[in-house]
Amino acid sequence: MTDNHVQQSNDESTKQSEAGDEKVNLLGMSRSQLETFFESLGEKKFRASQMMKWVHQLGVTDFDDMTNMSKALREKLKSVAEIVVPEITYEDHSADGTRKWVMQMAGGSSIETVYIPDGGRGTLCVSSQIGCSLDCSFCSTGKQGFNRNLTSAEIIGQLWIAARSFGNADVSKERYVTNIVFMGMGEPLLNFDNVVPACDLMMDDFAYGISKRRLTVSTSGLVPMIDKLGSVTDVSLAISLHAPNDPLRDVLVPVNKKYPIKDLIAACQRYLANLPDKRRITIEYTLIEGVNDLVEHAHELVVLLKDLPCKINLIPFNPFPNNEYRRPSRNAVMRFQKVLNEAGYVATIRTTRGDDIDAACGQLVGRVEDRTRRSQKYIPVADVTPATQVAR
Ligand code: SAH
Ligand code: SF4
Repeated sequence: MTDNHVQQSNDESTKQSEAGDEKVNLLGMSRSQLETFFESLGEKKFRASQMMKWVHQLGVTDFDDMTNMSKALREKLKSVAEIVVPEITYEDHSADGTRKWVMQMAGGSSIETVYIPDGGRGTLCVSSQIGCSLDCSFCSTGKQGFNRNLTSAEIIGQLWIAARSFGNADVSKERYVTNIVFMGMGEPLLNFDNVVPACDLMMDDFAYGISKRRLTVSTSGLVPMIDKLGSVTDVSLAISLHAPNDPLRDVLVPVNKKYPIKDLIAACQRYLANLPDKRRITIEYTLIEGVNDLVEHAHELVVLLKDLPCKINLIPFNPFPNNEYRRPSRNAVMRFQKVLNEAGYVATIRTTRGDDIDAACGQLVGRVEDRTRRSQKYIPVADVTPATQVAR
Protein backbone atom coordinates (compact mmCIF):
# COMPACT_ATOMS: atom_id res chain seq x y z
CA MET A 1 0.00 0.00 0.00
CA THR A 2 1.50 3.26 -1.05
CA ASP A 3 -0.78 5.83 0.51
CA ASN A 4 0.09 7.56 3.71
CA HIS A 5 -3.45 8.19 4.87
CA VAL A 6 -3.44 5.55 7.50
CA GLN A 7 -0.92 6.08 10.14
CA GLN A 8 0.07 2.79 11.68
CA SER A 9 1.28 3.22 15.20
CA ASN A 10 3.71 0.34 14.95
CA ASP A 11 5.57 -1.02 11.96
CA GLU A 12 4.90 -4.56 13.13
CA SER A 13 1.26 -4.25 12.11
CA THR A 14 2.05 -3.92 8.44
CA LYS A 15 3.64 -6.51 6.25
CA GLN A 16 4.79 -6.90 2.72
CA SER A 17 2.34 -8.26 0.17
CA GLU A 18 3.55 -10.42 -2.67
CA ALA A 19 3.72 -7.39 -4.90
CA GLY A 20 6.03 -5.74 -2.41
CA ASP A 21 3.50 -3.20 -1.19
CA GLU A 22 2.72 -2.94 2.49
CA LYS A 23 -0.57 -4.39 3.62
CA VAL A 24 -2.19 -2.74 6.55
CA ASN A 25 -3.68 -4.83 9.35
CA LEU A 26 -7.18 -3.53 10.02
CA LEU A 27 -7.61 -5.55 13.23
CA GLY A 28 -6.14 -2.92 15.55
CA MET A 29 -7.66 0.18 13.98
CA SER A 30 -10.04 2.27 16.01
CA ARG A 31 -13.16 3.71 14.41
CA SER A 32 -11.45 7.02 13.58
CA GLN A 33 -8.44 5.23 12.08
CA LEU A 34 -10.73 3.03 9.98
CA GLU A 35 -12.71 6.04 8.81
CA THR A 36 -9.50 7.68 7.62
CA PHE A 37 -8.52 4.44 5.94
CA PHE A 38 -11.81 4.09 4.05
CA GLU A 39 -11.74 7.74 3.02
CA SER A 40 -8.30 7.14 1.59
CA LEU A 41 -9.91 4.48 -0.61
CA GLY A 42 -12.59 6.94 -1.75
CA GLU A 43 -15.23 5.26 0.44
CA LYS A 44 -17.70 6.70 2.92
CA LYS A 45 -16.94 6.76 6.63
CA PHE A 46 -19.78 4.38 7.50
CA ARG A 47 -17.67 1.53 6.11
CA ALA A 48 -15.68 1.75 9.34
CA SER A 49 -18.67 0.65 11.42
CA GLN A 50 -19.41 -2.14 8.97
CA MET A 51 -15.85 -3.37 9.13
CA MET A 52 -15.78 -3.26 12.95
CA LYS A 53 -18.97 -5.26 13.13
CA TRP A 54 -17.63 -7.93 10.76
CA VAL A 55 -14.27 -8.25 12.42
CA HIS A 56 -14.99 -7.76 16.10
CA GLN A 57 -18.59 -8.80 16.59
CA LEU A 58 -18.88 -11.56 14.01
CA GLY A 59 -15.25 -12.66 14.00
CA VAL A 60 -14.91 -12.48 10.21
CA THR A 61 -11.38 -12.02 8.88
CA ASP A 62 -11.93 -12.83 5.19
CA PHE A 63 -12.95 -9.82 3.10
CA ASP A 64 -14.84 -12.14 0.73
CA ASP A 65 -17.31 -12.93 3.53
CA MET A 66 -18.19 -9.27 4.06
CA THR A 67 -21.36 -9.35 2.03
CA ASN A 68 -22.42 -5.74 2.51
CA MET A 69 -19.25 -4.52 0.80
CA SER A 70 -19.28 -4.39 -3.01
CA LYS A 71 -17.19 -6.88 -4.95
CA ALA A 72 -14.97 -4.06 -6.18
CA LEU A 73 -14.38 -2.83 -2.65
CA ARG A 74 -13.58 -6.33 -1.42
CA GLU A 75 -11.02 -6.73 -4.19
CA LYS A 76 -9.51 -3.37 -3.31
CA LEU A 77 -9.35 -4.34 0.36
CA LYS A 78 -7.61 -7.59 -0.48
CA SER A 79 -4.91 -5.74 -2.34
CA VAL A 80 -4.10 -3.20 0.36
CA ALA A 81 -5.22 -4.65 3.67
CA GLU A 82 -5.50 -7.76 5.76
CA ILE A 83 -6.89 -8.90 9.10
CA VAL A 84 -4.30 -10.82 11.03
CA VAL A 85 -4.97 -12.16 14.51
CA PRO A 86 -2.28 -13.43 16.90
CA GLU A 87 -1.37 -17.10 16.69
CA ILE A 88 -2.44 -19.22 19.66
CA THR A 89 0.33 -21.61 20.66
CA TYR A 90 -1.18 -22.87 23.87
CA GLU A 91 -4.65 -22.74 25.39
CA ASP A 92 -5.95 -24.09 28.66
CA HIS A 93 -9.22 -24.07 30.51
CA SER A 94 -9.06 -24.41 34.29
CA ALA A 95 -11.57 -26.31 36.40
CA ASP A 96 -12.74 -23.00 37.93
CA GLY A 97 -13.59 -21.57 34.50
CA THR A 98 -10.39 -19.59 34.08
CA ARG A 99 -8.97 -19.66 30.57
CA LYS A 100 -5.47 -18.91 29.51
CA TRP A 101 -3.88 -18.38 26.14
CA VAL A 102 -0.25 -18.16 25.14
CA MET A 103 -0.02 -16.29 21.87
CA GLN A 104 3.00 -16.07 19.66
CA MET A 105 3.69 -12.65 18.26
CA ALA A 106 5.72 -11.54 15.25
CA GLY A 107 9.37 -12.01 16.13
CA GLY A 108 8.78 -15.27 18.00
CA SER A 109 8.09 -14.04 21.52
CA SER A 110 4.96 -15.03 23.38
CA ILE A 111 2.51 -13.24 25.62
CA GLU A 112 -0.22 -14.46 27.90
CA THR A 113 -3.86 -13.52 28.26
CA VAL A 114 -6.17 -14.77 31.00
CA TYR A 115 -9.96 -14.88 31.33
CA ILE A 116 -11.40 -15.06 34.84
CA PRO A 117 -15.14 -15.64 35.31
CA ASP A 118 -16.71 -14.54 38.55
CA GLY A 119 -20.46 -14.72 38.96
CA GLY A 120 -22.02 -12.68 36.18
CA ARG A 121 -18.70 -11.11 35.38
CA GLY A 122 -15.97 -12.22 33.02
CA THR A 123 -12.69 -10.36 33.31
CA LEU A 124 -10.03 -10.51 30.63
CA CYS A 125 -6.51 -9.68 31.72
CA VAL A 126 -4.59 -8.42 28.69
CA SER A 127 -0.91 -7.79 28.02
CA SER A 128 0.41 -4.58 26.51
CA GLN A 129 4.10 -5.32 26.01
CA ILE A 130 6.41 -8.29 25.56
CA GLY A 131 8.31 -8.13 28.85
CA CYS A 132 8.61 -4.89 30.78
CA SER A 133 11.43 -2.44 31.31
CA LEU A 134 10.47 -1.28 34.79
CA ASP A 135 11.97 -4.13 36.80
CA CYS A 136 9.71 -4.19 39.85
CA SER A 137 11.41 -6.52 42.31
CA PHE A 138 8.41 -8.83 42.86
CA CYS A 139 7.31 -9.20 39.23
CA SER A 140 8.31 -12.05 36.97
CA THR A 141 7.50 -10.07 33.82
CA GLY A 142 9.87 -7.34 34.96
CA LYS A 143 12.57 -9.91 35.54
CA GLN A 144 12.46 -10.91 31.89
CA GLY A 145 13.43 -7.48 30.69
CA PHE A 146 11.79 -5.67 27.80
CA ASN A 147 11.44 -7.00 24.30
CA ARG A 148 8.97 -4.76 22.47
CA ASN A 149 5.61 -3.03 22.52
CA LEU A 150 2.58 -4.94 21.29
CA THR A 151 0.81 -3.38 18.31
CA SER A 152 -2.80 -2.29 18.77
CA ALA A 153 -3.75 -5.33 16.64
CA GLU A 154 -1.88 -7.61 19.02
CA ILE A 155 -3.61 -6.03 22.01
CA ILE A 156 -7.15 -6.13 20.61
CA GLY A 157 -6.30 -9.55 19.12
CA GLN A 158 -6.25 -10.94 22.67
CA LEU A 159 -9.86 -9.86 23.14
CA TRP A 160 -10.80 -11.06 19.66
CA ILE A 161 -9.45 -14.52 20.51
CA ALA A 162 -11.07 -14.62 23.96
CA ALA A 163 -14.44 -13.53 22.56
CA ARG A 164 -14.28 -16.16 19.82
CA SER A 165 -13.38 -18.92 22.25
CA PHE A 166 -16.97 -18.92 23.45
CA GLY A 167 -18.23 -19.95 20.03
CA ASN A 168 -19.16 -17.97 16.98
CA ALA A 169 -22.04 -16.11 18.52
CA ASP A 170 -22.42 -12.43 17.75
CA VAL A 171 -20.31 -10.77 20.45
CA SER A 172 -22.74 -7.87 20.71
CA LYS A 173 -25.57 -10.25 21.65
CA GLU A 174 -23.83 -12.52 24.12
CA ARG A 175 -21.05 -10.96 26.15
CA TYR A 176 -18.76 -13.28 28.03
CA VAL A 177 -16.05 -10.70 28.49
CA THR A 178 -17.64 -7.94 30.56
CA ASN A 179 -14.52 -6.42 32.13
CA ILE A 180 -11.00 -5.84 30.86
CA VAL A 181 -7.91 -5.07 32.89
CA PHE A 182 -4.47 -4.21 31.54
CA MET A 183 -2.81 -6.33 34.19
CA GLY A 184 -1.04 -8.89 32.06
CA MET A 185 2.50 -8.41 30.86
CA GLY A 186 3.92 -4.95 30.42
CA GLU A 187 3.39 -1.35 31.39
CA PRO A 188 0.48 -0.04 29.28
CA LEU A 189 1.40 3.63 29.65
CA LEU A 190 4.79 2.94 28.06
CA ASN A 191 2.88 1.73 24.98
CA PHE A 192 0.45 4.61 24.89
CA ASP A 193 0.01 4.96 21.12
CA ASN A 194 -1.10 1.36 20.74
CA VAL A 195 -3.00 0.97 24.01
CA VAL A 196 -5.30 3.95 23.40
CA PRO A 197 -6.72 2.79 20.00
CA ALA A 198 -7.12 -0.70 21.48
CA CYS A 199 -9.11 0.79 24.38
CA ASP A 200 -11.21 2.79 21.90
CA LEU A 201 -12.09 -0.44 20.09
CA MET A 202 -12.86 -2.26 23.32
CA MET A 203 -15.38 0.45 24.24
CA ASP A 204 -16.86 1.02 20.75
CA ASP A 205 -20.45 -0.19 20.41
CA PHE A 206 -19.68 -1.51 16.92
CA ALA A 207 -16.87 -3.61 18.36
CA TYR A 208 -17.04 -4.89 21.96
CA GLY A 209 -19.05 -2.19 23.75
CA ILE A 210 -17.19 -2.57 27.05
CA SER A 211 -18.15 0.14 29.52
CA LYS A 212 -15.45 2.66 30.41
CA ARG A 213 -16.09 1.83 34.04
CA ARG A 214 -15.25 -1.81 33.34
CA LEU A 215 -12.09 -1.13 31.36
CA THR A 216 -9.12 -0.59 33.65
CA VAL A 217 -5.61 0.47 32.74
CA SER A 218 -3.15 -0.52 35.44
CA THR A 219 0.07 1.44 35.79
CA SER A 220 3.10 1.41 38.01
CA GLY A 221 2.67 5.17 38.27
CA LEU A 222 4.14 7.12 35.35
CA VAL A 223 2.85 10.54 36.38
CA PRO A 224 3.05 12.49 33.07
CA MET A 225 1.48 9.57 31.22
CA ILE A 226 -1.43 9.45 33.66
CA ASP A 227 -2.15 13.07 32.77
CA LYS A 228 -1.80 12.27 29.08
CA LEU A 229 -4.21 9.34 29.41
CA GLY A 230 -6.76 11.59 31.07
CA SER A 231 -6.54 14.02 28.17
CA VAL A 232 -7.58 11.42 25.56
CA THR A 233 -9.80 8.86 27.27
CA ASP A 234 -11.83 8.14 30.39
CA VAL A 235 -11.11 4.51 31.15
CA SER A 236 -10.76 3.47 34.77
CA LEU A 237 -7.35 3.63 36.39
CA ALA A 238 -5.52 1.24 38.71
CA ILE A 239 -2.26 2.11 40.42
CA SER A 240 0.30 -0.48 41.46
CA LEU A 241 1.20 1.10 44.78
CA HIS A 242 2.54 -1.80 46.87
CA ALA A 243 4.08 0.39 49.59
CA PRO A 244 2.88 3.18 51.89
CA ASN A 245 6.12 5.18 51.84
CA ASP A 246 8.82 6.21 49.36
CA PRO A 247 11.82 4.33 50.79
CA LEU A 248 9.95 1.01 50.58
CA ARG A 249 8.32 1.78 47.22
CA ASP A 250 11.71 2.78 45.79
CA VAL A 251 12.79 -0.82 46.39
CA LEU A 252 9.64 -2.56 45.13
CA VAL A 253 8.74 -0.27 42.23
CA PRO A 254 11.97 1.45 41.12
CA VAL A 255 10.15 3.99 38.93
CA ASN A 256 9.04 5.53 42.24
CA LYS A 257 12.44 7.24 42.45
CA LYS A 258 11.37 9.30 39.46
CA TYR A 259 7.72 9.76 40.39
CA PRO A 260 7.36 9.62 44.18
CA ILE A 261 4.12 8.76 45.95
CA LYS A 262 3.00 12.33 46.62
CA ASP A 263 3.21 13.23 42.92
CA LEU A 264 1.49 9.98 42.02
CA ILE A 265 -1.47 10.61 44.30
CA ALA A 266 -1.80 14.15 42.95
CA ALA A 267 -1.90 12.72 39.40
CA CYS A 268 -4.64 10.29 40.48
CA GLN A 269 -6.66 13.16 41.92
CA ARG A 270 -6.31 15.10 38.66
CA TYR A 271 -7.36 12.01 36.71
CA LEU A 272 -10.52 11.57 38.77
CA ALA A 273 -11.34 15.27 38.57
CA ASN A 274 -11.26 15.04 34.76
CA LEU A 275 -13.69 12.13 34.53
CA PRO A 276 -17.28 12.91 33.56
CA ASP A 277 -18.62 10.60 36.27
CA LYS A 278 -17.83 9.73 39.85
CA ARG A 279 -15.31 6.94 40.09
CA ARG A 280 -12.55 5.66 42.30
CA ILE A 281 -8.97 4.72 41.64
CA THR A 282 -8.13 1.07 42.24
CA ILE A 283 -5.05 0.76 44.43
CA GLU A 284 -3.21 -2.51 43.89
CA TYR A 285 -1.14 -3.69 46.80
CA THR A 286 0.77 -6.94 46.46
CA LEU A 287 1.39 -8.29 49.96
CA ILE A 288 4.86 -9.74 50.49
CA GLU A 289 5.70 -11.46 53.73
CA GLY A 290 7.77 -9.37 56.11
CA VAL A 291 8.31 -6.68 53.46
CA ASN A 292 5.11 -4.63 53.16
CA ASP A 293 2.49 -6.69 55.00
CA LEU A 294 2.85 -5.45 58.57
CA VAL A 295 0.00 -3.82 60.46
CA GLU A 296 2.08 -0.64 60.63
CA HIS A 297 2.15 -0.55 56.83
CA ALA A 298 -1.64 -0.83 56.77
CA HIS A 299 -1.96 2.10 59.22
CA GLU A 300 0.44 4.14 57.11
CA LEU A 301 -1.66 3.36 54.03
CA VAL A 302 -4.82 4.52 55.79
CA VAL A 303 -3.28 7.96 56.31
CA LEU A 304 -1.64 8.13 52.90
CA LEU A 305 -4.84 7.51 50.94
CA LYS A 306 -7.21 9.60 53.02
CA ASP A 307 -7.77 12.26 50.33
CA LEU A 308 -8.02 9.90 47.37
CA PRO A 309 -11.35 8.26 46.46
CA CYS A 310 -10.16 4.69 46.04
CA LYS A 311 -10.74 1.02 46.62
CA ILE A 312 -7.87 -1.21 47.57
CA ASN A 313 -7.13 -4.54 45.98
CA LEU A 314 -4.84 -6.71 48.10
CA ILE A 315 -2.94 -9.30 46.06
CA PRO A 316 -1.13 -12.00 48.02
CA PHE A 317 2.28 -12.30 46.35
CA ASN A 318 2.51 -15.05 43.76
CA PRO A 319 5.90 -16.70 44.11
CA PHE A 320 8.04 -17.53 41.10
CA PRO A 321 11.43 -19.20 40.77
CA ASN A 322 14.64 -17.34 41.54
CA ASN A 323 12.90 -14.86 43.75
CA GLU A 324 13.14 -14.81 47.52
CA TYR A 325 9.91 -13.03 48.38
CA ARG A 326 7.19 -15.10 50.01
CA ARG A 327 3.43 -14.98 50.17
CA PRO A 328 2.12 -13.95 53.62
CA SER A 329 -0.08 -16.28 55.64
CA ARG A 330 -3.83 -15.99 55.23
CA ASN A 331 -3.96 -14.50 58.72
CA ALA A 332 -1.47 -11.78 57.86
CA VAL A 333 -3.46 -10.88 54.75
CA MET A 334 -6.71 -10.70 56.71
CA ARG A 335 -5.10 -8.68 59.48
CA PHE A 336 -3.94 -6.15 56.87
CA GLN A 337 -7.37 -6.03 55.29
CA LYS A 338 -9.06 -5.53 58.67
CA VAL A 339 -7.07 -2.38 59.41
CA LEU A 340 -8.13 -0.91 56.07
CA ASN A 341 -11.76 -1.96 56.42
CA GLU A 342 -12.00 -0.55 59.92
CA ALA A 343 -10.69 2.75 58.64
CA GLY A 344 -13.57 2.82 56.15
CA TYR A 345 -11.81 1.62 52.98
CA VAL A 346 -13.21 -0.95 50.61
CA ALA A 347 -10.35 -3.43 50.59
CA THR A 348 -10.76 -6.75 48.83
CA ILE A 349 -8.41 -9.69 48.68
CA ARG A 350 -7.81 -10.95 45.19
CA THR A 351 -8.36 -14.66 45.37
CA THR A 352 -5.95 -16.60 43.27
CA ARG A 353 -7.71 -18.16 40.33
CA GLY A 354 -6.55 -20.57 37.71
CA ASP A 355 -3.72 -21.87 39.87
CA ASP A 356 -3.92 -25.21 38.12
CA ILE A 357 -3.08 -23.63 34.79
CA ASP A 358 -0.53 -21.18 36.12
CA ALA A 359 -2.66 -18.18 35.24
CA ALA A 360 -2.44 -16.39 38.54
CA CYS A 361 -1.60 -12.71 38.69
CA GLY A 362 2.10 -12.00 38.43
CA GLN A 363 2.76 -15.42 36.95
CA LEU A 364 2.21 -14.20 33.44
CA VAL A 365 5.67 -14.77 32.18
CA GLY A 366 5.33 -15.54 28.49
CA ARG A 367 8.52 -16.17 26.70
CA VAL A 368 10.90 -13.56 25.41
CA GLU A 369 13.21 -14.70 22.66
CA ASP A 370 15.34 -11.64 22.44
CA ARG A 371 16.06 -10.56 25.97
CA THR A 372 17.59 -7.16 25.97
CA ARG A 373 18.22 -6.61 29.64
CA ARG A 374 19.33 -8.52 32.70
CA SER A 375 19.74 -11.69 30.70
CA GLN A 376 23.13 -12.31 32.21
CA LYS A 377 22.11 -12.33 35.81
CA TYR A 378 18.70 -13.96 35.69
CA ILE A 379 17.52 -17.41 34.75
CA PRO A 380 14.19 -16.77 33.00
CA VAL A 381 11.25 -18.21 34.87
CA ALA A 382 9.51 -18.88 31.57
CA ASP A 383 11.74 -21.90 31.24
CA VAL A 384 10.25 -23.62 34.26
CA THR A 385 6.54 -22.86 34.15
CA PRO A 386 4.31 -25.66 32.90
CA ALA A 387 2.36 -23.50 30.46
CA THR A 388 5.35 -22.25 28.57
CA GLN A 389 6.92 -25.68 28.53
CA VAL A 390 3.90 -26.90 26.65
CA ALA A 391 3.86 -23.75 24.55
CA ARG A 392 7.18 -24.51 22.96
N1 SAH B 1 2.63 -2.80 34.57
C1 SAH B 1 1.34 -2.60 35.11
C2 SAH B 1 0.35 -3.69 34.77
C3 SAH B 1 0.83 -5.11 34.81
S1 SAH B 1 1.21 -5.78 36.37
C4 SAH B 1 1.41 -2.38 36.59
O1 SAH B 1 2.47 -2.57 37.15
O2 SAH B 1 0.40 -1.97 37.15
C5 SAH B 1 -0.38 -6.23 37.01
C6 SAH B 1 -0.44 -6.33 38.52
O3 SAH B 1 0.17 -7.54 38.99
C7 SAH B 1 0.30 -5.21 39.19
O4 SAH B 1 -0.43 -4.67 40.25
C8 SAH B 1 1.54 -5.90 39.67
O5 SAH B 1 2.12 -5.18 40.68
C9 SAH B 1 1.01 -7.25 40.08
N2 SAH B 1 2.04 -8.27 40.23
C10 SAH B 1 3.17 -8.39 39.51
N3 SAH B 1 3.88 -9.45 39.94
C11 SAH B 1 3.19 -10.00 40.96
C12 SAH B 1 3.41 -11.14 41.80
N4 SAH B 1 4.48 -11.91 41.67
N5 SAH B 1 2.48 -11.42 42.73
C13 SAH B 1 1.37 -10.65 42.85
N6 SAH B 1 1.13 -9.58 42.10
C14 SAH B 1 2.02 -9.25 41.15
FE1 SF4 C 1 6.36 -3.92 34.71
FE2 SF4 C 1 4.06 -3.83 36.09
FE3 SF4 C 1 5.76 -5.89 36.39
FE4 SF4 C 1 6.41 -3.50 37.34
S1 SF4 C 1 4.67 -4.78 38.03
S2 SF4 C 1 7.77 -4.85 36.17
S3 SF4 C 1 5.53 -2.15 35.80
S4 SF4 C 1 4.65 -5.35 34.53
